[in-house]
Amino acid sequence: MSKILVFGHKNPDTDTIASAIAFDYYLEKLGYDSEAVALGEPNEETAYALEHFNIEAPRIIETAANEVSQVALVDHNEPQQSVNDIKDVEVTYVIDHHRINGFETAHPLYYRAEPIGSTASVLYKMFEEKDFDIPSAVAGMMLSAIISDTLLLKSPTTTQEDEKIAYRLAKIAEVNLEEYGLDLLKAGTNLSSKSAEELLNSDSKVFDMHGHQVQIAQINTVDFADVTSRKEEIIEAVNATLINSDVELFVVLVTDILENNSFAYVVGQNMDAVETAFQQQVFDQEIQLPGVVSRKKQIVPQLTDALEG
Ligand code: ZN
Ligand code: ZN
Repeated sequence: MSKILVFGHKNPDTDTIASAIAFDYYLEKLGYDSEAVALGEPNEETAYALEHFNIEAPRIIETAANEVSQVALVDHNEPQQSVNDIKDVEVTYVIDHHRINGFETAHPLYYRAEPIGSTASVLYKMFEEKDFDIPSAVAGMMLSAIISDTLLLKSPTTTQEDEKIAYRLAKIAEVNLEEYGLDLLKAGTNLSSKSAEELLNSDSKVFDMHGHQVQIAQINTVDFADVTSRKEEIIEAVNATLINSDVELFVVLVTDILENNSFAYVVGQNMDAVETAFQQQVFDQEIQLPGVVSRKKQIVPQLTDALEG
């Protein structure tokens, strides 16, 4: 049987890395020859989880078709978020929890998406359905994915299932959910060591919204001042990425993970759509987003609607 590469989206987050590791394990259990890989370096939060559970970071790939003909996607489906040569390989599995956009295949495939807090939660259900045991370290990574994607079960994307699953995984991984969760989230908020480019790239995705290319980066912090003190530098870095790019609007979502609140820097075109989407004025390239923590649920749908027509 030929090998299957398993990977999540570009600018990998904890759910993408953890889900690749967990789904690789699941596929091996099913008898496949598979390998979890990544489309970039783990961020600091993910690195903290990998180290805590003593798991090696997945190998980084640039392209897939040079090594395999089949791939499994976790935590994404939109082609521009995937490996560069996604068109040259066959997608045999998608396990996801995002909107479906721009995705198509020539062949039948296994596709499972649920509107739930993390891809790891979907995978937990799949393990349960097959009666597969989850090794403690894999459980720890899956738990980290849920904590990361739901901001410790506080994001509006969190479902009761995520909560139940998180407590079960914490038990298998032998960690205290609240204590470990806060340590994990804080590990991802060490911003001073990062350049403005790194801040923008560590959790950044491009979305096609009715033909408009919109890039949305999210920066988590425990103190807005750590970001606002670097506003000029950040806007400059955004402007630099917009040169020679087809992205027309760049949103830098800055989220206080303790207060569950956000604001954003917005650069580019369609500011009126931004104001319509969030019912707030843009002042000096800045917009307040009270109560917003989820890019997927509180930014992308609203902006997509506002950019229609
Ligand atoms: Zn993700
Ligand atoms: Zn996710």
